[in-house]
Amino acid sequence: MAADTLARRLRDIVGAGHVLSEPDLREPYEGDWSGRFRGAARAVVRPADTAQVTAVVAACAEHGAPIVPQGGNTGLVGAGVPRGGEVLLSLRRLDAVGDVDAATAQVDAGAGATLAALQSAAAAAGLDAGIDFGARDSATVGGLTAADAGGRRALRHGTMRARVAGLEAVLADGRAIDRRTGVLKDNAGYDLPALLVGSEGTLGVITAVRVQLVPRLPERVVALVGLGDVEEAADLLARLRRDAPSLECADFFLDDGLQLVLDHLRLPAPLEPRAPVYVIVELAGRGDVTEELADALGEAHAVVGIDGTDRDRLWRLRESHTEAIAAAGVAHKLDVGVPLDRLAGFLDAVRETVEEAGARAVLFGHLGDGNVHVNVLGAEGDDVDEAVLRLVAERGGTISAEHGVGVAKARWLSLTRSEAEIAAMRAIKRALDPQNILNPGAVLA
Ligand SMILES: Cc1cc2nc3c(=O)[nH]c(=O)nc-3n(C[C@H](O)[C@H](O)[C@H](O)COP(=O)(O)OP(=O)(O)OC[C@H]3O[C@@H](n4cnc5c(N)ncnc54)[C@H](O)[C@@H]3O)c2cc1C
Repeated sequence: MAADTLARRLRDIVGAGHVLSEPDLREPYEGDWSGRFRGAARAVVRPADTAQVTAVVAACAEHGAPIVPQGGNTGLVGAGVPRGGEVLLSLRRLDAVGDVDAATAQVDAGAGATLAALQSAAAAAGLDAGIDFGARDSATVGGLTAADAGGRRALRHGTMRARVAGLEAVLADGRAIDRRTGVLKDNAGYDLPALLVGSEGTLGVITAVRVQLVPRLPERVVALVGLGDVEEAADLLARLRRDAPSLECADFFLDDGLQLVLDHLRLPAPLEPRAPVYVIVELAGRGDVTEELADALGEAHAVVGIDGTDRDRLWRLRESHTEAIAAAGVAHKLDVGVPLDRLAGFLDAVRETVEEAGARAVLFGHLGDGNVHVNVLGAEGDDVDEAVLRLVAERGGTISAEHGVGVAKARWLSLTRSEAEIAAMRAIKRALDPQNILNPGAVLA
């Protein structure tokens, strides 16, 4: 009876065509990108604007109905898909991108606008979004903010947190808050937008974000450098940080990961002889940066991409890791961060641990941020996940660098967060969402 009443309310708010109850219509929203997480939603609800989101959340709160917010559904920690019986709130229709405010270099983007749409709006105004990664055509501004996404350019521009100049969100009781003044200095009270960044849909539903853009740096050069080991990669990074002020990205992958990509894309090796470790470096500036790169690389074993096609060709080798791994099987994806001086030991220990468990590890990531994507293929159960996360904790790292904790890692949060920190997080969650209806089970188990 209550379920029917809620369904009727939701249809009245968003229109019958935007409440999807039939299994085949719900299906695309119910499974995640990796194929690892899936659950049946009570219904998929697709509001068109903030007013409708407000009314939907208020109706769900009245019925005590849990909600899973979803943007582009490219998240990799299982928190954007239902676990069973929640209302799946899709924000994709809130996809407007406003005019860029030239004086502040800021733009208002709806939560459902894709990263690619944000990048186009920025480029049209002669600016740059300052953030980029492979899922750009689907991942949304709301999802990026809720996950505090990073990507390859975080080295220079920070994670999404650094791009959020303000936001609008709907709280668990259905009230909206809006801090999109565009004013840089605003310390009147607690910084609620900051709290929502990285909250993974557990503290509020983000409806719009005022994004801080960055200057466009049109001159770019990319190099793929082959190295003997991870220590050499760390030395190269140190040299680049010192000698290459235009450094924008420094990612890494290993030779077995490269082989997986080459087989998947049917491509020849980019560098001969092959190397155990590869670092892909990008420099960006207003003027020519090729000489700066050449000086920093010295005699390194490298292939350089200067024009757009060559740069994209080199980046494809790094970005296609995710796709090549997905084609090889359903991977356990552990996005972690470790201090750079412990990276080499960590990678060795992960390999050993995963192989002992009879599984295969594919390792790559954002070298400059100490951010490693540990992909485990062929694992039985979650024991290997825990073993890898313990290796991270032992080295003073974080169990989540840029993908979030989600449901995948919620039970291990105490490995990197103290009892006092988790108690504070629970107190915040209780204060803002006393019924625990916003993405229950994500972040806090
Ligand atoms: C090929 C590929 C490459 C990737 N590369 C990177 C990378 O380099 N760096 C990186 O950081 N991530 C990367 N990701 C992960 C993913 O794209 C990011 O986490 C992205 O921010 C998710 O955005 P989304 O719109 O798809 O969010 P979803 O997957 O829909 O949701 C992610 C989380 O945010 C919550 N959420 C979504 N929208 C809202 C909203 N409006 N309000 C409140 N909560 C919301 C969801 O409940 C969920 O907890 C990659 C993913 C893929 C598939």
